[in-house]
Amino acid sequence: MRVSTKIIIALCGAIILFAFFLGLSRYTMNQVQLQERRLNSLYSVAREISNVLIGSRVFQDRLTGAEYVDDSLRATRTKLEEIVEESDQIESIFLYGMLERVDDYSELFGRMVQSKQFLSGLDRDVRTDIVRFGVDNQNFHDQLYLKRESSEGALRDQLDLVIFANGHLWGWLNRAVSIIDRDLLLENDVNRFHANFDIAKEAYIEEIDTLKRRAVELEVDGLLEYTRLLDEITLGLTALSVEFTIAAREEAELAGELENHGARLRGMVNRLIERGQQQSKALSERIGVIYWIAAIVLLSGSVILSIWFSLSISRPINRLRDNFKVVAEGNFNLQVPATGKSELDDLARAFNEMTDKLRRSYAEVEERVRQRTKELQLATVRSRKLADAAQEANLAKSAFLATMSHEIRTPLNSIIGFSEMLEETELNAEQRSDLAAIRRSGNILLELINGILDLSKIEAGKMHLEVNRVNLAEMIQEVTGLFELNAERRGISLSIELYSSLPKFVHTDGTRLQQVLNNLISNAVKFTHEGMIYVKAWATKDVGGHLLYYISVEDSGIGIAKDKQRDVFLAFTQADSSTTRQYGGTGLGLAICSRIVEMLGGTIELDSTLGKGSTFTFSFCDLDDLILKPESSDKDSSVNLPLDVEKGLAVLVAEDDPTNFKLTSKLLGRHGLIPDWAKDGRQAVDMALGKDYDLILMDLQMPDLDGVAASREIRAAYDGRDQPYIAALTANALGESREACMEAGMEDFITKPISSADMKAALFRFKNALLASSQ
Ligand code: ADP
Repeated sequence: MRVSTKIIIALCGAIILFAFFLGLSRYTMNQVQLQERRLNSLYSVAREISNVLIGSRVFQDRLTGAEYVDDSLRATRTKLEEIVEESDQIESIFLYGMLERVDDYSELFGRMVQSKQFLSGLDRDVRTDIVRFGVDNQNFHDQLYLKRESSEGALRDQLDLVIFANGHLWGWLNRAVSIIDRDLLLENDVNRFHANFDIAKEAYIEEIDTLKRRAVELEVDGLLEYTRLLDEITLGLTALSVEFTIAAREEAELAGELENHGARLRGMVNRLIERGQQQSKALSERIGVIYWIAAIVLLSGSVILSIWFSLSISRPINRLRDNFKVVAEGNFNLQVPATGKSELDDLARAFNEMTDKLRRSYAEVEERVRQRTKELQLATVRSRKLADAAQEANLAKSAFLATMSHEIRTPLNSIIGFSEMLEETELNAEQRSDLAAIRRSGNILLELINGILDLSKIEAGKMHLEVNRVNLAEMIQEVTGLFELNAERRGISLSIELYSSLPKFVHTDGTRLQQVLNNLISNAVKFTHEGMIYVKAWATKDVGGHLLYYISVEDSGIGIAKDKQRDVFLAFTQADSSTTRQYGGTGLGLAICSRIVEMLGGTIELDSTLGKGSTFTFSFCDLDDLILKPESSDKDSSVNLPLDVEKGLAVLVAEDDPTNFKLTSKLLGRHGLIPDWAKDGRQAVDMALGKDYDLILMDLQMPDLDGVAASREIRAAYDGRDQPYIAALTANALGESREACMEAGMEDFITKPISSADMKAALFRFKNALLASSQ
């Protein structure tokens, strides 16, 4: 079955259940409302019956309010008829009984009203007669009184007695009427009425007799009529008492019946109310049960639906998910059964199709990968060959540069050294000027060679920093000081401005920092004809809170065009092609500077306007995490200190080039030292073994045994003896030599060409080492 069909079935089931539940709720609500309505009607019937009973009693007591009782009876009837319409069979029989009883009650009450009306009519008649008799009684009294007034003695006493009897008569008569009022009409107590009425009647008759007897003796006028009237009244009273008794008895019966009916009616309505309440209770219990059943049906329906769904939908989906996992792990041969027509079967078929396609694509990809791998292997072999060739070429370039530098520096060493020494001899003006030209050219050539070597070293990654603690202010002043004379000669002011943010010391490569500053100030002086040059230094914190140091060189020189500003940092590039002609230079300085600044952890920037001047600003950071070397300032400051070397020291110079040996021995001779000469490394070792040398100046590149190996052998041979001080003397400046020398046990490293200042500094370091070892 399709999933959509299943969902529709589930939906229909839910709707039917919902409708059933709704209908059930509606039905029970109606039942509850009906029951409530019936109960309310019964309550109002009970109220009306109470009204009837109370009204009846009030009527019996006060002879008033009969219409209210009739109204309540009518209302009771109407309500009962309403209830009958909505009642079951048993209840309706009961209700019809009640209706009959209401009719009975109403009839009895009618009779009661009639009886009361009859009694009160009778009472009225009696009163009328008595009022009339009252007039006669008064007239008779007046007559007796007149007679008494005119009488005297015994007659007068007799008349007083008659008047008294006549008065008593009137009193007893009134007493009898009031007994009717009280005992019959108000209290309806027939027995009491009889007892009281008989007493009053007898007293009255007795008084009549008395009156008759005395009055006859006294011969009162009209006595006869009067006594006749009294007899009539006596008869009337007797008849009245009989009528009253009958009527009162009947009324008492009626009252009893009414009471009985009323009590019955009240009992019936109470029973009906009780039944209604019981029915309500049963109904609410039934509703509770219905709700429970509905809840259980709904719950079990949803559980059944969930199970059905889970079995028919979730399970196949989970199976499919597991299959997907298997496919994801690389098993494309998997096929799942799909025979039905449901969406899940469609999905399974799509899955099978997918694995088919994947299988095919995988096979294709595998084939392609195989081919590519083959091609790659070939390409790798080819590129490895190329890389080897490039490596070889690089090595060849390095070797070439090393050799070239050595080969050029060696004769250059001699040229500069000898011209320096020649300058100190007697020369005529022309010779001196020629010699100065030779020296200048030598220096330019040396500068070029140094530049090329520096750049090659940096690019080959062979330039290593020597980090030491540098006094920045001192360094800046020292470098600037070198240009002061030149600047003054050209009429340019050269000033330094050090900001307070600048710390005194920084850990950096002082020599390289000096090289950069030297180059920038040298360019500033070279390209400025008038105005000023400012060297400024400050420090700020970067975002990480680390100090960043800045040095700027600002000049009012020729400036650099905007489009050339980027190029000046490229090697062998100058802002203007005429620059070389006018100012000289190689175009290497700024390229080297920017690379050194990068190594020092900063950047270099240029801000320039053509014709107005330029500002070069470079930054660098503190490199205190790198190994500290002894401070460079000691070395440099030594040049200016007086050197006092012991004259009889044994010095050996190992040098394969005779010219260079000649120059070196001349430089040493200036300090009173006469060296022995070893023409190669082997000879140097032999000589060192034969004689205790204090100082050995060892060339590095020598035939047979090079300087490093020779030093190692000497160190080993001198084991236990006072070791000589060995200083490397080399034109090889490619970088690795210094470390190799230190490792072989050499103490110093002097690069050619050596000036007399260089020699002096080297001897100063040697002397310091001697002093330190003797302490
Ligand atoms: P060099 O000065 O040896 O030619 P540099 O790399 O030091 O080589 O400088 C490259 C070029 O940049 C210079 O030839 C010059 O044209 C320009 N330049 C450098 N510094 C200045 C400066 N302060 N004022 C004007 N031009 C400058």
